[in-house]
Amino acid sequence: MTTPSSTAAPAPFGWCHWHKGPSGTAVMVDIVEQKSGPGAALYACAPCREQRGLTPVAEQAHEVAYRDYLIHTTDCAGCSRLGRCDLGGRLRDVYQKALDGTR
Ligand SMILES: [Zn+2]
Ligand SMILES: [Zn+2]
Repeated sequence: MTTPSSTAAPAPFGWCHWHKGPSGTAVMVDIVEQKSGPGAALYACAPCREQRGLTPVAEQAHEVAYRDYLIHTTDCAGCSRLGRCDLGGRLRDVYQKALDGTR
């Protein structure tokens, strides 16, 4: 009996941590920081997300803000390596605030 108990086994993609079963619609909704090792990702399937009001990590505020910022800077003539236009600067602030809010 030398097998270590694996309480922190990484869950494969397609597992829902909320109803604790396999799911084809599971996406990462949270990352739990652990004392040692990398953070553990938590996945939830579509019905569980709807029931609990969970937002996929990919749709959380800082991700959305970052995407807005990137989309703006690629299209904007006023945003370049030299600097950002007013809107570009504001979008970057929004992104940074959203990032701070996740800590
Ligand atoms: Zn579920
Ligand atoms: Zn701009």
